[in-house]
Amino acid sequence: MDTINILGIKFNNVTLEESVSIAMDRISNNEKTMVVTPNSEIAYMCKSDDEILKIINSANIILPDGIGVIYASKILKNPLKEKVAGIEFSENLVKTMAKEQKSLYILGAKPEIARKACEKLALKYNGLKIAGYQDGYFKDINKVIEDINNSQADVLLVCLGAPKQEKFMYDNFEKLNVKLMCGIGGSADIFSGEAKRAPDFYVKYGLEWFYRLIKQPERIGRMMKLPLFLLVVLKEKMFKR
Ligand code: UDP
Repeated sequence: MDTINILGIKFNNVTLEESVSIAMDRISNNEKTMVVTPNSEIAYMCKSDDEILKIINSANIILPDGIGVIYASKILKNPLKEKVAGIEFSENLVKTMAKEQKSLYILGAKPEIARKACEKLALKYNGLKIAGYQDGYFKDINKVIEDINNSQADVLLVCLGAPKQEKFMYDNFEKLNVKLMCGIGGSADIFSGEAKRAPDFYVKYGLEWFYRLIKQPERIGRMMKLPLFLLVVLKEKMFKR
C-alpha cells in the first residue's frame, strides 16, 4: 500500500472503496488487522507524544480522517487521494460484511448506545450478524476482552475516543481474537441515532468541523488543533526547503 508521511504518520494513500476492499481481503485471509483513523487533532498530538505516534504507526491500516490531513498532504505537495473518515470506512465495511454474513462487536460510548448502534446497523444492513456490544465505561478490562472473544466477532469497532481507543487496541492486540479492530471515536453515537452527523453540504465542502463547532462550541479547544496542525505542517515544509 502506498503511504504518505505527514509529521511522521504513515498514512495509507487509499480511496474509501480501496480501504474497505483491503480490509475485507485481510479479514478473508485471516490477517489480524488494526485500523486507525487519525484526524488533525491526533496528528497534532503525535507531534509531541512519541508513544501515540508509535501506536498509530503500528497499525496495519492508517486512514486520513478529516479535511485537515488532506490539506496537510497538499501543503507537502504529496496529496492523499481522498479523506477516508472512520465513520465512512466503518459503515461501508459493515455494509460489505453484511453481504458476507460477517459478525460485528461494538465497544464504547455511553450505556445503551452500543446496543442501539448495533440494532440500527443490523436493521439497515440485512445479513449483518451482531456478535455483541459493551459500553465504554467498563471497570474490568479482562471481562470485556473475554466477552469479545467469546462472541467470536469478526470485526470489533472501538468507540472510546482518541487516543484511548488506539491504546486499547495496541495493548490488547494479541489478546483480542477478532480479525479486524478499528477505532472510530464518537461514531457509535451517530450509528445509534443519538448524535447527528453534519448534513451532506458540510461534509462535501470539508466544513464538517464548522458544523460541529456550531453544535458543540465547547469543542473549540480541541478544534483549534486543526489550524495548529496545519501551521506545524507549513513550518515543516519551509524547513525542508
Ligand atoms: N467514550 C467511552 N469511554 C470513555 C471515554 C469516551 O466510551 O472512557 C466514548 C464517548 O461516550 C463518545 C466517544 O467515546 O461516544 C468519544 O467521542 P468523541 O466525539 O470525543 O470522539 P471523536 O469522534 O471526536 O474522536
